[in-house]
Amino acid sequence: MGECKNCKGRGYLYEEVPYYSGVLGPEVTCPTCGGTGKDKVCHLCKGKGYVYQAVPYYSGALGTRVTCPVCNGKGYTD
Ligand SMILES: [Zn+2]
Ligand SMILES: [Zn+2]
Repeated sequence: MGECKNCKGRGYLYEEVPYYSGVLGPEVTCPTCGGTGKDKVCHLCKGKGYVYQAVPYYSGALGTRVTCPVCNGKGYTD
């Protein structure tokens, strides 16, 4: 856990505006952390949203890709 990488811990972002306008866009709540500024990347899938189901090691396969049960495929936890 640390600070949100998307907003650098601020909890909000500036909406993109044309650079030539010379102003910052309106502040918007960071969609990644929901405005908390905290890194909530799922500890199980590490933000990928899926995990590989364990299979016997001798099968030589990676296992079935399944939706992460912790974050329901979102890649982060609420
Ligand atoms: Zn954020
Ligand atoms: Zn997950």
